[in-house]
Amino acid sequence: MNRPTVRPKVRSDVALIPGYHSPQLDVAVRLNTNEAPEPPPVDFGRRLGELLANADWNRYPDREATRLRTRIAEVEGTTADRVFAANGSNEVLQCLALAFGGAGRLALTFEPTYALHGHICRMTGTDVVSEPRAEDFTLDPATVAEAIARHQPSITFLCNPNNPTGLAETREVVVAALEACGAVGSLLVVDEAYGQFAPWTAAELAGPEVPLVVTRTFSKTWSMAAVRLGYLVGPQWVISAVEKVALPYHLDVMTQTAGVLALEHVDEMDRRVSRITEQRGWIEARFGELDVESWPSSANFVLFRPAARKGADVWQRLVDRGVLVRNCASWPGLDGCLRVTVGTPKENRAFIEALTLVLELD
Ligand SMILES: *Cc1c(COP(=O)(O)O)cnc(C)c1O
Repeated sequence: MNRPTVRPKVRSDVALIPGYHSPQLDVAVRLNTNEAPEPPPVDFGRRLGELLANADWNRYPDREATRLRTRIAEVEGTTADRVFAANGSNEVLQCLALAFGGAGRLALTFEPTYALHGHICRMTGTDVVSEPRAEDFTLDPATVAEAIARHQPSITFLCNPNNPTGLAETREVVVAALEACGAVGSLLVVDEAYGQFAPWTAAELAGPEVPLVVTRTFSKTWSMAAVRLGYLVGPQWVISAVEKVALPYHLDVMTQTAGVLALEHVDEMDRRVSRITEQRGWIEARFGELDVESWPSSANFVLFRPAARKGADVWQRLVDRGVLVRNCASWPGLDGCLRVTVGTPKENRAFIEALTLVLELD
């Protein structure tokens, strides 16, 4: 064989995409990726093992994931033909971008927000345009509607509550976005990864002809980040479109089984949400006593900014003390900010103790 002389080129737009960076450091207290601090109910793993022992391993899994979709639909108060499930809500978002974005099309985000919205769109060749939030990270209905009318994006993203700021979007903002989307043929995607913590859900605005999709995940409140499972609820014509771009049998039997099993534990999930919300209140109260600015959160994390010290420096010093938070200090619009996930009471105390020490250094 002759030596190859020309190396295949990566797609030029892909070559320009910065990868996804969230260090997985091996420290004692990991509060950086908004996972649930508690595992699923004690017998979850054992029961899943039993169910999987009897799986039809030699057969492809149910391509339609009918049982899972039916159960999700019951919990969401809708029907299975309005639900699409995939490997994490990230794959749901990717399918949306493949079906409604692509070359020559535009997606609109309001920054700062979840970086993967823009990132996933770019991977599918979709152009991304961003509009800024106000200083306090809120949006107002008129600004949102005007931006949608001006850009005429194929896809518009909102995140309720928003990551990494923790703020819930108001109903007025989502309604204004939806009306503006309806006028220009844009699909409104409301990412509700933290929806169980929010005062309201955009799913209330859904309808067969409403261009609205709400995405949710098992990675956070469901204590199942290790299983990659997310879904969307949307009109039937969106479901048909994303089914076309999803790979056949993309959702394996383990994931489908784990999802169905998890949905037997809605009450436990609700109780976890209450415990986390209480702990979030405790962290926010401690922030009030420290020299940090923080933003009111409707999720399982809190965005904060050390006043007197550089965020990146505080982040490193926390790591040195065995506490990992998310370093957002260099993200556009988040100068000097860090984001802490609400952990167990013990982890939260460890975090506050470490932060207090770090802030006292001169
Ligand atoms: C964590 C998170 C997700 C979850 O993605 P998965 O692929 O389901 O793990 C989606 N959206 C937002 C805003 C998130 O913060």
